[in-house]
Amino acid sequence: MVDEGLFDDTQETAPSVPRGKTALRSEQINQLRHSPQYKRLRTEFRAACSRKRHPDGTYGEPCWLCNGNIDYQLKHPHPYAFSLDHAVTVKENPDLMLDPQNFRASHADCNIGRGTDDPPIDLGTPSEVW
Ligand SMILES: [Zn+2]
Repeated sequence: MVDEGLFDDTQETAPSVPRGKTALRSEQINQLRHSPQYKRLRTEFRAACSRKRHPDGTYGEPCWLCNGNIDYQLKHPHPYAFSLDHAVTVKENPDLMLDPQNFRASHADCNIGRGTDDPPIDLGTPSEVW
């Protein structure tokens, strides 16, 4: 009788990742972030974004967070330089970190501002296929 009700209200909102694994995971994510593979994918993605042609003849994938144009000539650490963002955050699903389908173009500042919050769009309806 004492424990009644304690076990039936947490299941659906409980985090899927046990807290104990978080430290290990962020270490792995850090390693991935600096891996040659990730750098290559990011370079390729940036190049593809900068080549993207719009109907009006202009080029360049806009920032998916603020919809503003990205100047692909700008370089890190410029706040408006291109930054690779992840639709499903790395924190949410590290397995998608190297998945180009999950890559999004963003301003460095917008990406930082977003942090690891959920994206403000419906991921069920991607606007285009890479
Ligand atoms: Zn932006």
